[in-house]
Amino acid sequence: MNEGRCVKCGSCLRACPVLNDPSGSRFPGPRTVGVDAPRFLERDSIGQNALRCTTCHACEWACPSGITLTRSMLKLRSEMSGERLPGHRKMLENISSFGRTVSTEFSGWMEDGNRILYFPGCIGLGRSTDLTASVSSLLTSLGMKHDISSEAMCCGSPLLKIGALDAAEGLRRRNAEVFSRYDRIITSCPGCTYQLREVYGIEAEHVIEVLKGSDLCSNLEGRWALQVPCHLRRGISPWTAEDLISILESAGVSVVRMPGEDGCCGGGGGMLSGFPETSGSIARSKVDLYRRAGVNGVITACPFCSLNLGREGIKVLDIGEAIAPKH
Ligand code: SF4
Ligand code: SF4
Repeated sequence: MNEGRCVKCGSCLRACPVLNDPSGSRFPGPRTVGVDAPRFLERDSIGQNALRCTTCHACEWACPSGITLTRSMLKLRSEMSGERLPGHRKMLENISSFGRTVSTEFSGWMEDGNRILYFPGCIGLGRSTDLTASVSSLLTSLGMKHDISSEAMCCGSPLLKIGALDAAEGLRRRNAEVFSRYDRIITSCPGCTYQLREVYGIEAEHVIEVLKGSDLCSNLEGRWALQVPCHLRRGISPWTAEDLISILESAGVSVVRMPGEDGCCGGGGGMLSGFPETSGSIARSKVDLYRRAGVNGVITACPFCSLNLGREGIKVLDIGEAIAPKH
């Protein structure tokens, strides 16, 4: 790791959505958790407060010394001992029971031996099934016949975030056989895309990468703001995030660009299950900004962002729900 390069400039602290939220005062911050704790054995005094981070990567991007803060924080989490937070215990129980972090509501499995797998992820199968149906239908209408496999389990990304490495590895082994049956894997969740690329070594594609260059239209009226997901912009790539915007604008959506559109929704990194009050508070601040801008709603490209912002009462659409093929 490269923590020794810290020049104590504080840029990471200013970038952190948790530290800058009124409910985030118990989070020691990225410098303490990511730089000091690994070197000076401060971990014992930090305890479970190390889990008060959404893993949004904003600190890492702000750091002039290129310190891999998020990676350091995840390593620390994997070494933590002691009792897990109730929400994280529940997540692990769900993994044991269903193989996914939440119970599965989706029932429209498509297991026809196609060479493309659409992998909606736990939230897409458990909480945002309309989103999943929309993306599946969009892919089909673009000529991409695909499976949605009941055998594919959680990708393991949420478990790495809470330090449950063994459980994540168990899922990786279980999924590897299923994934090997496919030539192409398409995801809706940038966290899943990132995990499949980094941990499984599979060149999975986020749906934005698939849609780029397609002839698309939209019947959305009014003005729509964006929630640019952390794991899309700072995980997959900033260019993929730009593609989200250009796809929507080319389809005729009136997109309102706002400062902070790429700020964290508050839901990632195990925060929604572990510290729902902070997660909700960060989401509320974002939703207040959208409301003040007078937009009709928000478009994003991550089931988690859809879920967490949508809980605050604003209309949130996934890109797969906002556009359709031009006939
Ligand atoms: S990853 Fe995001 S939430 Fe976590 S410390 Fe860095 S800026 Fe804060
Ligand atoms: S931004 Fe980087 S160099 Fe500056 S205080 Fe944070 S970790 Fe240290």
